Amino acid sequence: MSTPEKSDLTNTAATPAAGRSDDDWRRELTPEEYHVLRQAGTERPYTGEYWDTHTAGAYNCRACGTELFTSKEKFDSHCGWPSFWAPLAEERVRYIHDRTLGMERIEVRCANCDSHLGHVFEGEGYGTPTDQRYCINSISLKLVPAADDTQA
Ligand SMILES: [Zn+2]
Repeated sequence: MSTPEKSDLTNTAATPAAGRSDDDWRRELTPEEYHVLRQAGTERPYTGEYWDTHTAGAYNCRACGTELFTSKEKFDSHCGWPSFWAPLAEERVRYIHDRTLGMERIEVRCANCDSHLGHVFEGEGYGTPTDQRYCINSISLKLVPAADDTQA
């Protein structure tokens, strides 16, 4: 349904997620990736690959390769997970109200393949342009460093 307007050079390996079965995901993902992406698990804080990364580049969906976030919106929240104040574009992600822990949280998923990414929180006073924190599991993402890494 969504047609990306600009060509997505890093997205050549991506295939539409529709039609992928649970068995397909189990084959394609590591058990850790599967647990977070397909079972909405959460990696332990400060253990992920990207929570303290400052490399310039794009953060793609680990499952399908869609560009979801960029280093420009990444900020140091010190919460132990990669944090962004906005997605690359609103249509790249979808939101689901999650009440599993007795409080309302908003789950963030990849709009293309419906994989779990993390949660979004707002009004925490981080002083970012949106006052939102997309708290995303490192293991849900794949960093693609920018060709020119000098303006990080
Ligand atoms: Zn995806």
